Amino acid sequence: MGLKKIPLSTQIIAAMVIGVAWAFLQKPFPQLTVFTVDWIKPFGKIFIKLLYLVAVPLVFSSLIVGMGSLKSVSELKSIGKHTFLIFLTTLVSATIVGLSLAYLISPGHKIEHLAVDQAAAEKIAALQQTESSDTLIGAFSNLLPDNMLHALSNNSMMLQVVLIAFLLGIALSKMQGDAKNKIRDAMEAIQLWFTEVIHLIMAFAPIGVFALVASLELNAGVLLSLGLYMFTVVLGLSIMLFVVYPLCFTTLGKTKYIDFFVKSRSVLLMAFSTSSSNATLPLTLNVVKEKFHVPDNISNFVVSVGATINMDGTALYKCVAVYFIAQSLGVELTLVQMGVIILTSILSTAGAAGIPGAGMITLVVILQTVGLPAEGIVLILAPDRLLDMFRTVINVAGDISTSLCVNGLAQGKKVD
Ligand code: ASP
Repeated sequence: MGLKKIPLSTQIIAAMVIGVAWAFLQKPFPQLTVFTVDWIKPFGKIFIKLLYLVAVPLVFSSLIVGMGSLKSVSELKSIGKHTFLIFLTTLVSATIVGLSLAYLISPGHKIEHLAVDQAAAEKIAALQQTESSDTLIGAFSNLLPDNMLHALSNNSMMLQVVLIAFLLGIALSKMQGDAKNKIRDAMEAIQLWFTEVIHLIMAFAPIGVFALVASLELNAGVLLSLGLYMFTVVLGLSIMLFVVYPLCFTTLGKTKYIDFFVKSRSVLLMAFSTSSSNATLPLTLNVVKEKFHVPDNISNFVVSVGATINMDGTALYKCVAVYFIAQSLGVELTLVQMGVIILTSILSTAGAAGIPGAGMITLVVILQTVGLPAEGIVLILAPDRLLDMFRTVINVAGDISTSLCVNGLAQGKKVD
């Protein structure tokens, strides 16, 4: 009973702190580790699964409601234009920040190469098999789904779901009369329905978050050897969060610096502990609407599309990772290659689902485009889970910031 009075974000922080303490405390006691794997870890899995369960119907209905409620295609065009322009600007900034820092700090020159162990080698081989057969163009030609139900029933096909919703949403905004209203009302009802489901799931969040953090392998030795690389990624991500986004949302979005962080803290914490933009999406939508008061047509559109396409943290991380791998292997990258890294990291990021580890999987595409051996990925396997948490925070913060900017621009227009 008393727990209900404590705000959810406080409960989540407490769960994380207790989780970290547990992760370290259990280390010297093998029985405890076994207990964690058998009895605690599954709760984290249940939590993540519950969130995924609602992600597809929510993205689907949110996008259709968002676009269907636009009065005309021209309104869709102006919101869409602003959204994509801001997405692209922040994505390019993220890659430039990432590559510049990697160049300045040069983590790969200072860190000794890690040996490729059997498990990592097998993992890499599996990754290569899934990604290497595609050229970049080939990957894009595969993007458009040929079966709606298949895409809608697959959590890793979020971009395809977005494309389908896009198509249906544009068609809906062009329709007139009764049929249009019926479809929109039905989608709105579905959206409300799933929002209620989310409220139910969120009550379970503190337990889920504790379980996720408690079962992380916090192996200090491995993390230390890659400290400089991690420092570079985290520094770049911090620049995005504390400098680049504020430049956008304080000017275009007319939001105060502190307000942004205070109001979005529960979302950022959720992103950090789940490492998944998709899993965080329900809460992101909720906060953008209720705390930042961004109207439905903008928030539904920007946040749903952004969760899949706008991953600045992932793009930045990929640039640093590729540079680090190249340096570690003794390869000096040319300016042209850096340009290719920027382009491929933006494109492959748009195709990555907002799920844990997606960034690392699509990293293989870049390595191969630049001509680096995909085995290089082994160097960054160890700290990936931790960095995933940080980059997901930036991915989600970017969506919130963009919603505020697009809203600010739309309001500016109304005044004119
Ligand atoms: N986990 C990230 C996300 O969901 C994607 C990634 O792996 O970078 O936003």
